[in-house]
Amino acid sequence: VQGYEGRAVAVLGLGRSGLATCRALAAGGAVPLAWDDSPESRARAEAEGIALHDLARADWSQIAALVTSPGIPHLYPAPNRHLAAALAAGVPVDNDIGLFFRSFATAQTIEMDQPPKVVAVTGSNGKSTTTALIHHILTAMGRPSQMAGNIGTGVLSIDPPQEGEVIVLELSSYQTELARALTPDIAVFTNLSPDHLDRHGGMGGYFAAKRRLFAEGGPDRAIIGVDEIEGLFMAGQLAEAAEDGRVIRISSGQKLAGPGWNIFARKGFLAEYRAGRQVASIDLRAMPGLPGAHNHQNACAAYAVARSLGAAPRLVEDAMASFTGLPHRSQLVAEAGGVRYINDSKATNADSAGKALQAFDHIRWLAGGLGKDGGIASLAPYLDRVAKAYLFGHSARDFALQLGEHPHEIFDTLEQATASAIAEARSGDTVLLAPAAASFDQFPDFEARGEAFIAAVQAGHATHE
Ligand code: ADP
Repeated sequence: VQGYEGRAVAVLGLGRSGLATCRALAAGGAVPLAWDDSPESRARAEAEGIALHDLARADWSQIAALVTSPGIPHLYPAPNRHLAAALAAGVPVDNDIGLFFRSFATAQTIEMDQPPKVVAVTGSNGKSTTTALIHHILTAMGRPSQMAGNIGTGVLSIDPPQEGEVIVLELSSYQTELARALTPDIAVFTNLSPDHLDRHGGMGGYFAAKRRLFAEGGPDRAIIGVDEIEGLFMAGQLAEAAEDGRVIRISSGQKLAGPGWNIFARKGFLAEYRAGRQVASIDLRAMPGLPGAHNHQNACAAYAVARSLGAAPRLVEDAMASFTGLPHRSQLVAEAGGVRYINDSKATNADSAGKALQAFDHIRWLAGGLGKDGGIASLAPYLDRVAKAYLFGHSARDFALQLGEHPHEIFDTLEQATASAIAEARSGDTVLLAPAAASFDQFPDFEARGEAFIAAVQAGHATHE
């Protein structure tokens, strides 16, 4: 990391990204002042040879910047005290993403025939899938690519970018909110749903955090999902301000005609339109790793990125066909006796669970955990696809009340719910884990919940045979 030679930089939060930040700062000649309010994290950092500095006793007048980790609630529900102290002393606050863009811009001044490019993907849902799909398409086409940020490697731990390489970053709203430099060549905004509102003090703050990627003088190419009014508004503003071709609008479901560059999915087909004329079309139903309209939106976003980088439609289509999807996102884990078993443990909110429900039918739906505000009330329109709900975890009773007369049963654990769904499933059914809730009441994280489901499916079939 450049720009802080010989100066002290406070690093708050010593998880994976915090530790990488300390190392990158030290490598650039800065003096990291590492701190974490949790004794366990401090012990881990010390074990890795990182010197600690208690930020509660810091002399902020001597500190050039405060770099915080994405996991640290900085404003809500209560202001972080270190952050408040830094701001009061006029110290700039940044994060690893900001440091990355600073250094990357510097690295790019070194002469290269084909300088590396950065693609940043943000949005409420579909970020990981879209990021992985972009990386997959580029790799399959023989273009060097690295995936980093929220998925894969931390941004400060990537390999030095080579000639022609594309760095594909998944960025959460927490990350875009704080980064002081945010200058991708291509930025993608998938969609917006009311998640994480507690951290941003409401929808306005949440949208503002994502929107920072598209500020004045922003990316060369902005790829924007317009299925919500916020995206439509932002795309409209940018298109007005920019020359033709800077904005690509994408949609899952609505035909986007009219001027400009538009890519949308309808009835299983992706269509690319420029200035009102169709340029290409792809049959998305032939893509095994991308089931459902929500994945068709992700496909549109990834296709738009590949096209922006100059790829031909047919090559993108071929590359897409070999994408197998990410674990825990609409992941096909088994097929037995005509029953499909789908693990969508990543559906931690009602919106993403709703997408999964729309992607399948004759569903035996496993749901529950720590529900969010509103529970599953918004999923009522999709219940005709659900044969029965198998509820577990903390919010099982709330969900049951919201289901009313719709067939459902309450279980203590995911394992019991899965065993019952296996026993009751008939040929043609889909047993779907799409919890519409966080996992923390019964599991360390959504990955562990997905693994437990897979194990329960395997165990269920072992006892059946
Ligand atoms: P993120 O990284 O934004 O959390 P993921 O790709 O990990 O996104 O998917 C999160 C959840 O949302 C999964 O349950 C997935 O099935 C669902 N999902 C994926 N893409 C979309 C989309 N475009 N719109 C809505 N939900 C989606």
